Amino acid sequence: MKKRMKELVGLLNRYAKEYYTEDSPSVSDSEYDRLYRELVDLEKAYPDDILADSPTHRVGGLVLDGFEKYQHEYPLYSLQDAFSRAELDEFDHRVKSVFPDATYMAELKIDGLSISLIYENGQLQVGATRGDGLVGENITENVKRVRDIPLQLEQPLTITVRGECYLPRASFDRINEERRENGEQEFANPRNAAAGTLRQLDTAVVAKRNLATFLYQEASPTGRATQDEVLRELQNYGFSVNNRRITTPSMNEIWDFIQIIGQERDSLAYDIDGVVIKVNSLAMQEELGFTIKAPRWAIAYKFPAEEKEAEILSVDWTVGRTGVVTPTANLTPVQLAGTTVSRATLHNVDYIAEKDIRIGDTVIVYKAGDIIPAVLKVVEEKRQQQKVMPIPSHCPSCGSDLLHFEDEVALRCINPVCPAQIKERLAHFASRDAMNISGFGPAIVEKLFAANLVHDVADIYQLTVADLMTLEGVKEKSADKLYQAIQVSKANSAEKLLFGLGIRHVGSKASRLLLEKFGDLESLEQADFEAISAIDGLGEVIAQSLRSYFAKEEARKLLDELKGYGVNLVYHGQKIEADAELSGLTIVLTGKLERLTRNEAKEKLQNLGAKVTGSVSKKTDIVVAGSDAGSKLDKAQALGIRVENEDWLLGL
Ligand code: NAD
Repeated sequence: MKKRMKELVGLLNRYAKEYYTEDSPSVSDSEYDRLYRELVDLEKAYPDDILADSPTHRVGGLVLDGFEKYQHEYPLYSLQDAFSRAELDEFDHRVKSVFPDATYMAELKIDGLSISLIYENGQLQVGATRGDGLVGENITENVKRVRDIPLQLEQPLTITVRGECYLPRASFDRINEERRENGEQEFANPRNAAAGTLRQLDTAVVAKRNLATFLYQEASPTGRATQDEVLRELQNYGFSVNNRRITTPSMNEIWDFIQIIGQERDSLAYDIDGVVIKVNSLAMQEELGFTIKAPRWAIAYKFPAEEKEAEILSVDWTVGRTGVVTPTANLTPVQLAGTTVSRATLHNVDYIAEKDIRIGDTVIVYKAGDIIPAVLKVVEEKRQQQKVMPIPSHCPSCGSDLLHFEDEVALRCINPVCPAQIKERLAHFASRDAMNISGFGPAIVEKLFAANLVHDVADIYQLTVADLMTLEGVKEKSADKLYQAIQVSKANSAEKLLFGLGIRHVGSKASRLLLEKFGDLESLEQADFEAISAIDGLGEVIAQSLRSYFAKEEARKLLDELKGYGVNLVYHGQKIEADAELSGLTIVLTGKLERLTRNEAKEKLQNLGAKVTGSVSKKTDIVVAGSDAGSKLDKAQALGIRVENEDWLLGL
């Protein structure tokens, strides 16, 4: 049992990191909840074996590197959860044994991320994430871009309020459509999109995303008697409050409310994952108190994971940029978690074999941590088809033989001129983290390829406005815009080009590290295995991959062609963006810098257009804190001012 507990703690901690810290879950919430329950049961049965790092004893996630930590004055909690009526009755019983006349408030459980807002004299000072409940991330600048959060309250109040920040479904669909167009990875669900948005460093992106909030708690002492009054008061202060709620002493009525909400769920404008039931009286709440992780006066009823049966009509095999061939099932359409689902991923050939999935099978589909739903299993009783699924032996795009390497689960097409791979590579080249050619998404790539206008990425730079105007649906104005975007991309710092080349294992971070070291692509091309693998943070796999890429004649030819078209091969670091970013800002230096003298740092910032001053005030835009930073850093944090470190300064 000890072994299983250890295994569960390891798994759950990994999933929690993916979910809270990386905003990119790899399993569904219901799978996480199932494993969590298993661990809770084991810990109840074997209390002596509870591990110190068990997730049952900790709230939430970690603090990301890019943000300053924020120490919460009033801790944030998780909620105990319930999946059945019986568990709600148990909760009711526990509460009523202390307070027989308790009344409950049932509210929607909004599926976003919790935020804490601190106002001083009516002015928004700090916005923070929950983090581990005691220490969160200071995301003030991002929070200020959420339109329904008041920056200034009408009354000069000093309060801490809490709520959920979420992304409306319509905005989620729009953002994912844009990301698809730009060849960027889509967000798995609105919760991850909201968390990913609030925890990234570009405030302009936050402003565009249409985040919204529902507030539900006043964490600082309130003069109110009930949760109901608190919600009304929050609304009066100017916060968004969700009005779909009931107050009742009866669990029967709450259960009815849950059923109704369950039916309305799909038609709401935002995602919810349950209903939260709270003891309405704040005095009773205080009496009931907290466990280590959650209040004893509240419980979250979670809706069951949506799983539906559907029939597999056919399977598409598509070829990705690196030649991996992926199977996707076409299904009879079913309603699942608010959307109509007609496709589900089958992952790879090994998965199909393991689950013995066949065309014509009735299968269970569910929404995993990914945007495309997945097939959980076959409903064997409904099997009519006896033939196993045919696995393609030839590439569906170019017809060459497919390979199934021993150490891989995927099928792979290794033809370097396979049209499907070329199209994927072109779209990747133009995508945001690569050359960022706006408007050059998969749809344009498809048309250019069909018109025989591009065969490799260098051809993009040969395109004229007239060429672009020959494409169906592209008028002069958009052809002109696209042409300009292509020209502008030539000046990109070279790490974007390197990433855009799509060399196996060379992601955007590795590209930056490589160019920081070698300065330009031609030097990197010449670099030997040892020099590459010696870079901190990179390894032999990347060095090997780069060496074999540049060993090819075509790779060298491609670089020459790109250079010939005026594409920049030199690394500029962040300098160009930072210039514009810093001009006119007021910056304070504090603490000990390791690699620059105070004067060098000051001079550097002034050269970039910033004003360097000595004391922190509301007018300060950025505080650069070295080691042992003291009161200035504290003040900056209290005022919610952006804080950077020496690495940031060196990167300018
Ligand atoms: P929780 O999400 O189950 O409940 C607590 C949170 O509910 C609060 O912090 C608050 O943000 C939110 N909330 C929404 N509406 C509310 C309202 N009206 N009143 C009060 N709170 C409200 O708990 P948690 O600790 O944040 O997360 C645990 C859950 O996260 C798991 O049950 C699982 O579903 C999911 N999770 C999934 C993975 C994964 O890999 N898929 C990993 C970790 C956690």
